[in-house]
Amino acid sequence: MTDVRRVFEALNWASSFLKAKGREENAARILLQHELGMSQAGLLASLRDPLDPEQDERFRRNIEQHAAGVPVQHLTGVEEFYGREFEVNKDVLIPRPETEELIEETLQLVQRYFPAGDPSIVDIGTGSGIIAITMKCELPASEVAAVDISESALLTAERNASRHGADIDFKLGDLTEPIRGRKWDIVLSNPPYIGYDEKAELSDTVRDFEPHTALFADDQGLALYSRMARELPALVNKPGIIGFEIGHAQGEAVKSLLKEAYPQAEIYVKKDINKNDRMVFCINA
Ligand code: GLN
Repeated sequence: MTDVRRVFEALNWASSFLKAKGREENAARILLQHELGMSQAGLLASLRDPLDPEQDERFRRNIEQHAAGVPVQHLTGVEEFYGREFEVNKDVLIPRPETEELIEETLQLVQRYFPAGDPSIVDIGTGSGIIAITMKCELPASEVAAVDISESALLTAERNASRHGADIDFKLGDLTEPIRGRKWDIVLSNPPYIGYDEKAELSDTVRDFEPHTALFADDQGLALYSRMARELPALVNKPGIIGFEIGHAQGEAVKSLLKEAYPQAEIYVKKDINKNDRMVFCINA
C-alpha cells in the first residue's frame, strides 16, 4: 500500500470494513482521532488532509485488531467516565456508562443525607478506580477508600487516582476484609455479577478480552452481593447508604438479600437510562 490516503478516505474505508465485520462503525472515528491525537472537531477540520503513511499503517492495524474483537479501549488505552479520562487495560473492567448512573444517584443521596458533603466512602472491587476516584473528585472533603482483590487492578487504579489528583486509600484484599474495624457512611460496589451460565451470551469483545475476575461470580452472579449483604451491617454507619450496580435480572434478588440484612431500611431498585434494573440502594437512616 503506497498510495497516500486522505483522512476521509481512511475513515470511510475503516467504517465500511468494521460494518462488514459486524462491529460499531463509530470505532473508526475514535481510533483515527486516537492516531492523530485530535478531537472530533479537529478530525472534521482535517478530512481532506493527506494521512501520514505511518499513521495510516498503525490505524489500519488497529482497525483490523478491533474487527478481530479487541476492545477499542484496549487499543486507545483509555475510556471516559463521568467526564474524566481513565487508563484501562486488560487487568480492569472497561468503565460502562451505566456506572455513571450509580454515581449520579449516590451524589443526589449525599445532598439529602450528608448535606455537609463529606461522607466517608468505600468502593469495593474498584477495578480501574472509576467509582472511588469520581466520588473523591466530586466530593473532595470526603475520605475515600477502595478495595480490590487484584493487585494489577489496584496498580491501574492508583495511576488513575494520581492522574486526577485524587487522594484515595487503596487496599488489596477480598471484598470487605481490608475495610473492617471501623464504619463507613457510604459503601458502593459494582462487583462481578455475571453468572457463569451466561458466558455464551457475552460478546467476544467482552468475553475474550475483559478480566474474568471482574465479570463472573457464582450463584447466577449473586455470590458477592450475598456476602456483602451479610458483612456490611457491621461496617456501615447510621445514617448510611449502600449502592450496588446489578445485572438487569437481579433487582429483586439483591433487594431481598439487603432486606434480610437491613429489615428496617429503605431499599429500592433503580433502572438505568435503557429502562433496565441496574442499581439497588439501601438507605439506613
Ligand atoms: N468498579 C469498577 C467499575 O465499575 C470495576 C467493576 C468490576 O470489575 N466488576 O468499572
